[in-house]
Amino acid sequence: MNSIKIFLEKLIRTKEKKYIPYGKHAINKRDIISVVKVLKSNFITQGPKVEKFEKEICKKLDVNFSVATNSATSALHIACLSLGLQKGDIVWTSPITFVASANCALYCQAEIDFVDIDIKNGLISICELEKKLEHAQSIGKLPKILIPVHLAGTSCDMHKIKQLSEIYKFKVIEDASHSIGGKFFGSYIGNCKYSDITVFSFHPVKIITTGEGGIATTNNLEIFEKMGKLRSHGIEKNINKLENKSNDKPWLYEQQILGFNYRMNDIEAALGLSQLKRLDNIVKKRNDIRKFYLKELHNLPVKVLEVEPNILSSVHLLVIVLDKEYRKYHSEIFNFLKNKNIGVQLHYIPVHSHPYYKKLGFKIGDFPVSEEYANSAITLPLFPELNKRQVKKIIEILKFEINKIGSNFI
Ligand SMILES: *Cc1c(COP(=O)(O)O)cnc(C)c1O
Repeated sequence: MNSIKIFLEKLIRTKEKKYIPYGKHAINKRDIISVVKVLKSNFITQGPKVEKFEKEICKKLDVNFSVATNSATSALHIACLSLGLQKGDIVWTSPITFVASANCALYCQAEIDFVDIDIKNGLISICELEKKLEHAQSIGKLPKILIPVHLAGTSCDMHKIKQLSEIYKFKVIEDASHSIGGKFFGSYIGNCKYSDITVFSFHPVKIITTGEGGIATTNNLEIFEKMGKLRSHGIEKNINKLENKSNDKPWLYEQQILGFNYRMNDIEAALGLSQLKRLDNIVKKRNDIRKFYLKELHNLPVKVLEVEPNILSSVHLLVIVLDKEYRKYHSEIFNFLKNKNIGVQLHYIPVHSHPYYKKLGFKIGDFPVSEEYANSAITLPLFPELNKRQVKKIIEILKFEINKIGSNFI
């Protein structure tokens, strides 16, 4: 017993030289070769690789159309616009998300509001959603779009969300930035069975990366065409779709709506294509590491965010939520891990509590479960190359601090 204690104290005291980040991209030789090939080719910006990437994503996820962009943020923006979002409309999302899920509504001059979460899985609470919809209907303030966020890679209850969207006539954009490769009842997230559009991010901390990048998937041809146009200045090049047809001038193009330059380029798409081939493998590795964490954490006063049996999470994040009696030591535990070079994070500061959102009228107390979650959640490192020894070390450090705190009040 004593020797274990000495070993532990030594382990805790030695300042690990190597910082363990909470997430990390995995680039292999094939990725590098694919990118170099593009650099030596005739296309660097949007070209054949982007098109191929879009096709491969559709094939993999079993969806009709996709539009690759330079970020998920841009994809969310053009997704909202393609559903006709404008001033006077309302969008709802979860407060526990990256700010981009809410900002996209504001880009369109729409109003934003939030639905509180379920602390067990960090996802939008269906019960709160039902209550809020009922109330919104009674005061004539129903949302035009709901943006459920598949936090940490785990799908929201899309059966219920679809059902509610039919009753209350709202559109659904899945913010699946965390969850490519994840499944809901056996099918890949992004097949848009239960939504109008799904958006993924390929930022380096996400499941697969293109450096920066995103993609929007849909089964609706009209939405697809609109998003494609918005991605590139609102310009139409298809001669058959020009408003002023002029068969003798085939070089003509038209700007038909106000769009942006949100294009992905071929360098990014080549990296994405190469990474996509390993998607299932990456998701499996992430699930294996989560399982190992679950086993090692089971005696501690913490809960890992739950994943329902019919859901395959892509396990973008390993989030633990401290049990009630430990919540007041959240900062202490967080800082202790940080000082030991463990790259802990909080996913996320509730969006409504940021200064910008407070200026819009939101205040602390508006979404109490989200706020409690933010005061008790810690993201521990998880990425494909993280090994068991590192996980054990992270947990020993966490255990050491928790036992120290526990001995003060038990
Ligand atoms: C990362 C992320 C985004 C934004 O992704 P970018 O590709 O960086 O624009 C949006 N929503 C969520 C939930 C995210 O985690």
